[in-house]
Amino acid sequence: MSDSVIVSVKNLTKIYETEGAPRVTALNGVSINISLGEFVAVMGPSGSGKSTFMNIVGLLDQATSGEYWLEGKNVSRLNADERADLRCQRLGFIFQAYNLLARTSAIENVELPMLYARVGAVERRRAAQAALEQMGVGDQAQKLPNQLSGGQQQRIAIARALVNSPSLVLADEPTGALDSKNSHDVMQRFRALNDERGLTVLLVTHDPSMALYAKRIVRFEDGQVISDAPTTGVSA
Ligand code: ADP
Ligand code: MG
Repeated sequence: MSDSVIVSVKNLTKIYETEGAPRVTALNGVSINISLGEFVAVMGPSGSGKSTFMNIVGLLDQATSGEYWLEGKNVSRLNADERADLRCQRLGFIFQAYNLLARTSAIENVELPMLYARVGAVERRRAAQAALEQMGVGDQAQKLPNQLSGGQQQRIAIARALVNSPSLVLADEPTGALDSKNSHDVMQRFRALNDERGLTVLLVTHDPSMALYAKRIVRFEDGQVISDAPTTGVSA
């Protein structure tokens, strides 16, 4: 495997077995490599396995079978604590619903990943403020999430995802709750981070006009990859 491969999954399957319900094969043999500096959009109909795939790549969940190598390390069979450590050190997450802590100011939300990584208080504050400024919300640092618009909250969530310098950022429908203007703003920010800082981004979207900001589109159907191709679309 080349040094520049960040994510390599081989023949991943995920089967959900719930008492009293039919078993669901959410992933059925997915193999993908993602290299440093890529910007990949995952598309596909509802129920096709996109979130299941993201949760496994994001170390929030484990596959039923298959292999997952992250930055050259086999992480297929880590326990929950080991996954949490690695997630905290190497990955950044952005969710559709922002998932900011409600009674916590914007800047404290951004400081959280650094708190877990035991960064000192002064450096935490400095880096969090810098990340907020980079996302254009530096002047919102003291506000609570419910005092901010959806677009502002998502930009704070992006600042939080970036603040530990992750090797990979994962975003599951990051524009799903935003209006068109804010959606384009968020996607332009991902694209600029990818173009200018070489940030590796893996995102799920069902909106083709958002997927065009990515440089590669992987399509899922029934738990399988049905196409994987570069975009010819937008420039940032
Ligand atoms: P997508 O994100 O593409 O909409 P998901 O990965 O969420 O798809 O779901 C894929 C399939 O797995 C669906 O049939 C869904 O109902 C099922 N599924 C997802 N999560 C669970 C779960 N925790 N328990 C049982 N079935 C699940
Ligand atoms: Mg989903």
